[in-house]
Amino acid sequence: MELHELLERNDRHVSEFSNDRFDAVQDGQSPELVTVCCSDSRVLQDELLTNETPGDVFTVGVIGNRVCERTDDGATISGDVLYPLVHAGTTTAAVIGHTGCGAVTATYQDLTDGVDEPDGIQYAIDLLKDRLAPGVDALPDGLDEESTINHLVEYNVDRQVELLLESDVVPDDVSVAGLVYDFQNVYSDERGRLQLINVDGSRTADAIERNEPALSDRFTRLWSY
Ligand SMILES: [Zn+2]
Repeated sequence: MELHELLERNDRHVSEFSNDRFDAVQDGQSPELVTVCCSDSRVLQDELLTNETPGDVFTVGVIGNRVCERTDDGATISGDVLYPLVHAGTTTAAVIGHTGCGAVTATYQDLTDGVDEPDGIQYAIDLLKDRLAPGVDALPDGLDEESTINHLVEYNVDRQVELLLESDVVPDDVSVAGLVYDFQNVYSDERGRLQLINVDGSRTADAIERNEPALSDRFTRLWSY
């Protein structure tokens, strides 16, 4: 993209965003929701929630929608995700995977054939790999590659949700949802629809019906393992 085009896009933003829209959040933020999406350019993190209000959603975008990072002491919840939960009163976290995820694909390839990636990308793959390896072993027989990846997309979202729920540093009153953004008609013919696949660790239709009956008609999974 030419730099002047980038700036022209911002001009449109400025003209559409009258200045008073920032008035309520001049001095701080208390977003109700933190979203953790893959940074894939097809995942429209704000648009998928029709988010146009400054201060409403704390948005995190990392390849493979990871909530964790590695430190000298081992894997821990990423500060990018933790910040609003600890410092801004955010009480809902949504981990949002997406169909056809390239990071999940690369991780699957690394687990099955090995890949040769620069350190920064390998770092992300390694963090996913630790979580996805049991999922690769448990995959149903007979899946084509596309379906394999989409099964593992769900498995990865489950693992990231699990990490948040099991963390000692995430406040206990934080609720965590797992979703998959479908822009490839994998779940339905409604592109852009968020599929609810995990609510606070519940990931079967029975459990959702029992624990979150109001959400049961939005719950859809490819893989119940
Ligand atoms: Zn992705």
